[in-house]
Amino acid sequence: MADKFDVIVIGAGPGGYVSAIRAAQMGLNAAVVEKWISKDGKPVFGGTCLNVGCIPSKALLEASHKFVEAKHDFDDIGIQAGDVSMDVKKMMARKEKIVNNLTGGVAGLLKANGVTAIQGTGKVVSSKQVEVTDQDGKASTYETDNIVVAAGSVPVEIPPTPLKEGMVVDSTGALEFQETPKRLGVIGAGIIGLELGSVWNRLGSEVTVLEAMDDFLPMVDGAIAKETQKLLKKQGLDIRMGARVTGSEIKGDEVVVKYTDAKGEQEITFDKLIVCVGRKPYTTGVIADGVGVETDERGFIHVDDQCRTSVPSVYAIGDCVRGPMLAHKASEEGVMVADIIAGHKAEMNYDAIPNVIYTFPEVAWVGMTEQEAKSKGVEVKTGTFPFAASGRAMANNATEGQAKVIADAETDRVLGMHIVGQHAGEMIAQGVIALEFGSSAEDLALTCYAHPTMSEAVHEAALAVEGHAIHMA
Ligand code: FAD
Repeated sequence: MADKFDVIVIGAGPGGYVSAIRAAQMGLNAAVVEKWISKDGKPVFGGTCLNVGCIPSKALLEASHKFVEAKHDFDDIGIQAGDVSMDVKKMMARKEKIVNNLTGGVAGLLKANGVTAIQGTGKVVSSKQVEVTDQDGKASTYETDNIVVAAGSVPVEIPPTPLKEGMVVDSTGALEFQETPKRLGVIGAGIIGLELGSVWNRLGSEVTVLEAMDDFLPMVDGAIAKETQKLLKKQGLDIRMGARVTGSEIKGDEVVVKYTDAKGEQEITFDKLIVCVGRKPYTTGVIADGVGVETDERGFIHVDDQCRTSVPSVYAIGDCVRGPMLAHKASEEGVMVADIIAGHKAEMNYDAIPNVIYTFPEVAWVGMTEQEAKSKGVEVKTGTFPFAASGRAMANNATEGQAKVIADAETDRVLGMHIVGQHAGEMIAQGVIALEFGSSAEDLALTCYAHPTMSEAVHEAALAVEGHAIHMA
C-alpha cells in the first residue's frame, strides 16, 4: 500500500465513499479510512445510511406498507388474500440481506475504482497527515496532500430517557426489534420518528409520538404539514404535540414516561420506547489539538460553501458540517470537494436539496414554504392540486394528499414545491430541477406530462398558480 496519497477521506458513509470514488475517477490517488467493523472483523462501508439509516428503514417501511395493503386494501380492489400475517423475523432477515448486499457493493466499487480502503480509526494529526489506529491498537501515519473529514453523526441521547438495550432504544435499536411491541412510544415527531413510528404502527403497535414543539413539521409548507398530520392520525398514530418529556422509569417489562403538556404533568406506559430527538456530529477525537480546524460548541466542523475548513488542505462534508443531515447532501458535497481537489471549479446549490419523509403517503419538499417566503417579505402566488382529482391516483387507490407549487408573484420563478402523496419522493425531483434551472411556474405549466401519472398533479398545481388547472373546478 502507498503511504502517500493525493487525498485521504476519513469515514466511508455516503459522503466519504462517494468522495473517494469521485477523487479516484478524477485521477487522484485516493484512500478511505473506515472504523466500522463487522462481528467477524471485516470493514463495513456505507456508514449510517446503508447500515442503520436510509436503507434498512426503507426496507422495513416497504415491507410494513405491503402488509397493510394486503390486510386492508386488497379486498377493495378484488384480491382475496385471506388471513394475512407478518413474520417479523423474516422481514428483518430480508432487511439484513439488502444491507449486506449494498455494503458489499460499496467495497466492490472502492476496489474497482482503485481506492485504497484502510480499516481503522482515522485522526487528522497535521494538515497533511492522517494517523490510523487499527482494531489491535496499532497506529500508522499516512502522508497526504488533502484530507476530507466525513465522520458523520450519531443519535442524540437525552437525560430523561437513558437508553436500555432492547427497551429504550435509539433509531438503530428500533430497526432491530424481533417482534412487534404492543405499546410503543416514540419521542420526537421528526422525519426518523414518523418513519419508525409508521413501521411499527402498521405492524400492529399502538404508537404514541411525543413531540415537545407545538408546530408539526415546521419545515414543511403549512397546508401540506396539516394534511400529513391528519393522514397519519387517521392511520392510528397518536401524535401529541407540545409534550415535553421530563423523565422515565423502567418498571419490570414496562417503561413509564413522564411528560408535561398544556394540561400539566402526564404519565404514559409503553413496552418499548424509541428516542428520536435528532443527531449530532461525530467529531470527537477526529482532529488532533493544534491542527487548526475549527469546530463549534456542538461539534460541527466549520466550513465555507465549498466545504473548506479553516485549514486549506482539510475539507469536511456530510452530517459533521452545517446543513441538512441527508445522505444525498453528503454525497453531493463529496463530489464537489473531490472535483475541487482535482483542480476543477465546483459548487453546490444548497437551495435545491430535496427532503423526503417515507411515510405513506410520502411527504417531499424542496425550497421555500409559503410561510417562509412571506416572512422574508417575498410576495408569492401558489397553486395546489389534490390527488383526489387525479385519475392515476384513483387507479392506484392513493387519492390522499396534494401537490403545491410556490412561485414568486412578480417573476413567476418557482421558489418551492411541497407534496404529500404516493411517490412524492420521486415526484419532488421535478421541483429540484425547476429550482436548479431557475424555471418559472409557467415553464412547468407548459410542459407535456405523461398521462396518467401521479406527476400530473405537479403539472396541474403549476397551472393552478394562474388559476388554470384543468381537472379542478
Ligand atoms: P455517515 O453515514 O454517518 O458515515 C460516517 C462514517 O464515518 C461511518 O461509517 C463511521 O463509522 C465513520 N467514521 C467516523 N469517525 C471515523 C474515524 N475517526 N475514522 C474512521 N471512520 C470514521 N438520509 C437520507 O437522505 N434519506 C433517508 O431516507 C434517510 N433515512 C435515515 C433513517 C435513519 C433511521 C437514520 C438514522 C438516518 C437517515 N438518513 C437519511 C440520514 C443519513 O443516514 C445521513 O445523513 C448520512 O448517512 C450522512 O452521511 P455521512 O457520510 O456524512 O455520514
